[in-house]
Amino acid sequence: MNEQRCLMCQGALEAQRVTRIQEYQGRWIVIENLPALVCRQCGERYYMPDIHDLVVRLIQSHTEPVRTETVAVYDAAQIA
Ligand SMILES: [Zn+2]
Repeated sequence: MNEQRCLMCQGALEAQRVTRIQEYQGRWIVIENLPALVCRQCGERYYMPDIHDLVVRLIQSHTEPVRTETVAVYDAAQIA
């Protein structure tokens, strides 16, 4: 059995498509349906090595986003 295991908890990994939020050149972008391996136990995500390149290529291709969302931003310093 060569099933891959989570590096954090040794849980079983499952191929899924996930939503990833990341910063790119000072702007937050959301990428949906990104292939990843997700730990069934702790939820840790592992991306294939070529996924980073795929995301950069997608952004740099100036493809129109499927939609644009407004994001609410909170400042924890106001309550802490
Ligand atoms: Zn895990």
